[in-house]
Amino acid sequence: MVIFNDGVAETETPDSNVVETDVLIVGSGPAGSSAALFLSSLGVPNIMITKYRWTANTPRAHITNQRTMEIFRDLGIEEQVLADATPHHMIGDTVFCTSIAGEEIGRILTWGNHPARHADYELASPSLNCDIPQTYLEPILVKNATMRGTQTQFSTEYLSHTQDDDGVSVRVLNRLTGSEYTIRAKYLIGADGARSKVAADIALPYEGQMDIAGSMNITFKADIAELVGHRPSVLYWVVQPGSNIGGIGAGLVRMVRPWNEWLIVWGFDINEGTPEVSEEDARQVVRNLIGVPDLDVEITGISLWGNNEQYATHLQKGRVFCAGDAVHKHPPSNGLGSNTSIQDSYNLAWKLAAVLNGQAGEELLETYSTERAPVAKQIVTRANQSGREFVKLFEALGIDKAETPEEMLALIESRKDSTPEGAAKRRAVQEAMEIKNYEFNAHGVELGQHYVSSAVVGDGSTKPAPQRDPELYYEPSTHPGVRLPHAWVGDNARKYSTHDLAPYGQFTLFTGITGEDWTTAAQKVSDQLGVTVKTVVIGPGQDITDLYFDWSKLRGVEEDGAVLVRPDKHIGWRADRLPANPEAALLDTVSAILNRGA
Ligand SMILES: Cc1cc2nc3c(=O)[nH]c(=O)nc-3n(C[C@H](O)[C@H](O)[C@H](O)COP(=O)(O)OP(=O)(O)OC[C@H]3O[C@@H](n4cnc5c(N)ncnc54)[C@H](O)[C@@H]3O)c2cc1C
Repeated sequence: MVIFNDGVAETETPDSNVVETDVLIVGSGPAGSSAALFLSSLGVPNIMITKYRWTANTPRAHITNQRTMEIFRDLGIEEQVLADATPHHMIGDTVFCTSIAGEEIGRILTWGNHPARHADYELASPSLNCDIPQTYLEPILVKNATMRGTQTQFSTEYLSHTQDDDGVSVRVLNRLTGSEYTIRAKYLIGADGARSKVAADIALPYEGQMDIAGSMNITFKADIAELVGHRPSVLYWVVQPGSNIGGIGAGLVRMVRPWNEWLIVWGFDINEGTPEVSEEDARQVVRNLIGVPDLDVEITGISLWGNNEQYATHLQKGRVFCAGDAVHKHPPSNGLGSNTSIQDSYNLAWKLAAVLNGQAGEELLETYSTERAPVAKQIVTRANQSGREFVKLFEALGIDKAETPEEMLALIESRKDSTPEGAAKRRAVQEAMEIKNYEFNAHGVELGQHYVSSAVVGDGSTKPAPQRDPELYYEPSTHPGVRLPHAWVGDNARKYSTHDLAPYGQFTLFTGITGEDWTTAAQKVSDQLGVTVKTVVIGPGQDITDLYFDWSKLRGVEEDGAVLVRPDKHIGWRADRLPANPEAALLDTVSAILNRGA
């Protein structure tokens, strides 16, 4: 009898009623689905479970910053993301107004779209930022993870776990059958969001508070192209009576799809309990903020969420790790939530792979907390400060003291007065708008993350003091711990980013022609440690040339020196010159980064 084989790999059934895997991921949001994608791309067996039948049902996250886009480029999915995204040049003419059809208070060019800032963004990365709603991004991540090996289980709920020296036993509930079963994994990642049960079960330590303000999302369809198409943005902030409550500071009309699908974020007073919002109420909010009383609106959803100001100071316990909103909980200001969640998983997955493959000591995993907990604190602080800074605009307009809607409207109107008070108000509004650069053009926050841990080996130098404001501006450097600077290099036929030459599955050593001896050294270290350390020699006559001479300005070492890049594109170490024994230097360094012991 012919046995047909259509090439589809079968799922092996377990011998017992315990399912086994290397890594179990709880949650298929940005943190969980990206962790699954990273692990599967590195060949690590993993199962991802998620409580619901599908991915995110509201388009919460959208701004996808350059660091995240670089990661997608590394994983080979950047084009898929761009195909579903609103591009960089259409996301940045951010408007502050009294309604979308009404008067403008001011505009700010955001997300690097100001010509004076655009160069910073172009120079910093091979990838520009874009806007992709979470409802579009998650399916791309889940699809690619699953195609590369992840076993994805929808309608499967994490219940509890126990851990021992060899692994974690996780009790899960199949919500379709109502039956419980156990998954035995070597490691568990809790990517189960801001109300993480996994984090609660390992009693992660937190600082800050949850639910400090209430927000409501109203999603709707309405074609308002003629009101916005000439000033394309994802964000239209509406200062209007009734909108300056809650955590956001103003009513926000956010583009989901240009220019007929939208999301309104509307604050409510959390101390007054949960508001009852009918479809008719929601339609009225939409019409008020758009400023068109008879606008044809289809309400597609209403949901409530809490604004938080809380971060974990340690992200793991034994074999259990938490990532994403489970460890940093904050308002959407600066658009950092999903981005940071994906970047957490990018940091964690290569370390798990290295330990599981026997290439690294288990202590490497501790550096996940050491490196990412300070980032969690930084972004929670930044996002909340950005939210609070909206008050400066209200103060500038004088409306923070308004007691009635009429008074508020009169105060907004008085910014036009031809009086010394009117002139002072205009100056104050301008200054308040300038501060919003810290929310919408915080390039340094997005790209300037710097790790200090045992997985980074110092070179004796101190990190250079920033020349410009470190929150607004990213300054490239190869100081150990920072992100690899981007430069275009290549040859007469191809152009690569330095990031393209340092893919996720390996360590990469950049050097110049007089540093060619590093190549043999790196090969010997690779053989000895069983870890890929690939050398890229950049210079004329080599496979890769320094096309614009940018790399030689950025590399921060002499031509015969070397820059060692970790799989996650952070600098693990650098040597200013070729030492007498490059093999010994590299062996010591890679062994130290991987916690291989003596
Ligand atoms: C209005 C709004 C706008 C935003 N805009 C941006 C932005 O522009 N840019 C940005 O970067 N971020 C933004 N964010 C933040 C972003 O949405 C979050 O930071 C992001 O979703 C966090 O991802 P996560 O994977 O950690 O958690 P979540 O997305 O919350 O995912 C949690 C996952 O865990 C699963 N789960 C939960 N409990 C269990 C359980 N017991 N068992 C099994 N599965 C479970 C859920 O099903 C889900 O799949 C915004 C948020 C809001 C509300």
